[in-house]
Amino acid sequence: MTKPIYVTQPFLPPLKEFLPYLEEIWASKILTNGGPFHQKLESALCDYLGVKHIALFANGTLALVTALQALRVTGEVITTPYSFVATAHSLLWNGIKPVFVDVDPNTLNMDPTKIEAAITPQTTAIMPVHCYGHPCDVEAIQKIADNYNLKVIYDAAHAFGVQCHCGSVLNHGDLSVLSFHATKVFNTFEGGAIICPDEKTKIRIDQLKNFGHVGEVTVVAPGINGKMSEFNAALGLLQLQYIDQALARRKEINALYREQLQHVKGIHCLNDAGEHVANYAYFPIQVQPDYPLSRDALNEKLKENGIHPRRYFYPLISEFPMYRGLPSANKANLAVATSASLQVLCLPIYPDLEKSMVQEITQLIASQ
Ligand SMILES: *Cc1c(COP(=O)(O)O)cnc(C)c1O
Repeated sequence: MTKPIYVTQPFLPPLKEFLPYLEEIWASKILTNGGPFHQKLESALCDYLGVKHIALFANGTLALVTALQALRVTGEVITTPYSFVATAHSLLWNGIKPVFVDVDPNTLNMDPTKIEAAITPQTTAIMPVHCYGHPCDVEAIQKIADNYNLKVIYDAAHAFGVQCHCGSVLNHGDLSVLSFHATKVFNTFEGGAIICPDEKTKIRIDQLKNFGHVGEVTVVAPGINGKMSEFNAALGLLQLQYIDQALARRKEINALYREQLQHVKGIHCLNDAGEHVANYAYFPIQVQPDYPLSRDALNEKLKENGIHPRRYFYPLISEFPMYRGLPSANKANLAVATSASLQVLCLPIYPDLEKSMVQEITQLIASQ
């Protein structure tokens, strides 16, 4: 095998199609601060995703930090340890204490039945993650939030284009946060967004991402610089023309993996789309005890053959030094997440991945 195969490869439209966008930016000399491409991308994304309001950001992490500010979340927030570290970091950046609850063994999303026991008088919000793009149990979570008067902010970094029975999964909770990082299903090199249900919140978020400025001489909040540039917004507009094609390719690869792996003993394919419209952002498999190799040994074997899967999410967020002292970070509290973090391997999936390569990968996994 010549070229290494990584877990993902960013999707890029033909370069020559981007040049007219650049010429337009050079001609207008509008580089940022809510310019024409920024406005166009916001409205194109609202249409494509089926959401009411969207505020673009320079990246998903700043969007998470700002979402918490916009809702004035304080005290303690209930979240999941089974995610990318930015989820909990956004809480620390706001001086909020994360409280980890365990995940559901089937979806690896926050287990709603574990939430109530973690609520204290300091709890003000819940921050679940639609892990691998699989929708959380949004109804159960909302019910608890309503009962205890808590906000819900979804880290929807994996959930671009995902729909459940009532439309976009991004319309659930008080706010949802997307990432358009290079490794994500839809990318603007770096980028992110907050989906919000009403115009008032969108205006507040737009102020917060621009230093808290309202007009020329008034500053109403200690905002940050979270703005997306015209370059990134233009790139997003072009990417959007290719997104359906990219998602269709991911769907085919997903189906091929499932077909090829269905009879491999000890390998369980997670994240079955089931009832919802999926985006096939990741292809997680669970390496179970009856597979001849451990998860880490299989990972090494694939790497020796030029395939580079990723152990998302190992280690758990709760195992990093700034979190592991929290009472809720105790492994006994997080048994399902701990076991998943030792068994799950995300296999390569991206639009340009050749089908023959999927077959090579599955043969390597099956040949024990
Ligand atoms: C990618 C990711 C983020 C961070 O997004 P950036 O755009 O890279 O800042 C946050 N949460 C999750 C779950 C992610 O996968």
